[in-house]
Amino acid sequence: MNIQIVSDAKKTKHDLIVLPFFQGQDIAGIYKKYFGGTLTSPLSSRDFKNKIGRTQLLYTAGDVPSRILLLGLGEQSKFSFAAWRLAVQTAMTALLGLNVENVLIVMPVVKASEATRYLELTAFALTFGAYQFDQYQHATPDEKKTVPNNFYILSKLKGRSANEALAAGQLIGNSANEARDLGNHPANIATPSHLAAHAIALSKKHKFFCRIMNREDIKKEGMGLILGIAQGSSEPAKFIILEYGDKKQPPVVLIGKGLTFDSGGVSIKPSDKMEEMKYDMAGGADVLAIFGAAAGLKLPLHLIGLVPAVENLPSGTASRPGDVLTAHNGQTVEIITTDAEGRMVLADAISFAKKHYNPKLILEYSTLTGAVVAALGNQLTGFFTNTPAVVKNFSDAAKLTDEKFWMLPLEDSYKDQLKSQFADMKNVGERGSAGAITAALFLQNFVGETPWVHFDIAGTAWTTQPKPHLAAGATAWGVYLTMEFLRNL
Ligand SMILES: [Zn+2]
Repeated sequence: MNIQIVSDAKKTKHDLIVLPFFQGQDIAGIYKKYFGGTLTSPLSSRDFKNKIGRTQLLYTAGDVPSRILLLGLGEQSKFSFAAWRLAVQTAMTALLGLNVENVLIVMPVVKASEATRYLELTAFALTFGAYQFDQYQHATPDEKKTVPNNFYILSKLKGRSANEALAAGQLIGNSANEARDLGNHPANIATPSHLAAHAIALSKKHKFFCRIMNREDIKKEGMGLILGIAQGSSEPAKFIILEYGDKKQPPVVLIGKGLTFDSGGVSIKPSDKMEEMKYDMAGGADVLAIFGAAAGLKLPLHLIGLVPAVENLPSGTASRPGDVLTAHNGQTVEIITTDAEGRMVLADAISFAKKHYNPKLILEYSTLTGAVVAALGNQLTGFFTNTPAVVKNFSDAAKLTDEKFWMLPLEDSYKDQLKSQFADMKNVGERGSAGAITAALFLQNFVGETPWVHFDIAGTAWTTQPKPHLAAGATAWGVYLTMEFLRNL
């Protein structure tokens, strides 16, 4: 997909115009301003209700181009980055069903200070919105959805910063789509070894350091929780280490949960929707995608990425409830349920990060608890931190990227729930009692005073049903948000 800026609509070859407009705006007037012709619009019928992302395809007679996609933006006073992202992705869904090669997009009029950000967001939303995961399906030619080759963005902006904004939007969008691929691939393909191979390929492409620790290395390092979770599967665990940037700076360490399939282990999950547990590595996929994007944009930072990649299956060699495992930092953990495995592999990764890298900040992404879905549903990520100073930075970033989160407390008094009769702690709290919080407290026990953010993305990393602006499956929640956060560090 090529995306470029054009300044004159009439000099640009196109076979469809995307024409966004606000409630109450004179669409025929806008059309005339840019294209000169007369648009006999169906709007006078008032059939078109102008809501964000509402589209209507018009076939115009005689004129070139022959098609116009009206794109509703809702009320102008409520317009935002989030509204534009939603609108562009919805427009892209409408375009995928058409036989179109060259699309001209009219940019809405926005504040001059934000115009470049809107350009980046446009490129991101086009790339993200065009995503389809169909490589395991045989479609007939007329079922196949084609992505237009060329997008021409009608804008007064030009020069280096405008082109850089388009390139950044596409790069981050493509990185997010790579994370979605990893989440959507079935677990018999996207194994820990597959994640490791992907990490190696990414590191070669973007020229950063990558090391894969195998079972023996993990054992030597003393990461007993990872080994304990991995021992039920014949797929060997991999501990992926990435490093990018200026080693003289204290690093930001990104840690992602990489459970390539989570059956729950011996404490097996109900079978309803268990097939979706292939996305339990979404946090790990986020970290890999963020690394690709950060290196691609040459961010002036020192980043470490850690992904414990493991499969959790029941078998004759699997860990049992009641087993006691020793973590990387020497603490012992009693397994109450083998389905609380994510916090275990993350705990070892956190301890490893602290021992080897002296992080200035740990950002950790995990599809950690069903409890966070019960609390916040599928629109909001659970956000925990021991460093209140970063909350505003993430809130500001979310205004651009529309990845919403809600802060939940690290309530000290719930720590008692993790006391074990037989080990230093147990791996879950009381059933049905603040499960997202006690999972975060478990992790905090390993984090200590190091600044840290924990994103519980169990509800937001996956969407079961397709939406007008979003394909079903993995969502890469957190990739764009984190890129925006890191750029502003
Ligand atoms: Zn689990």
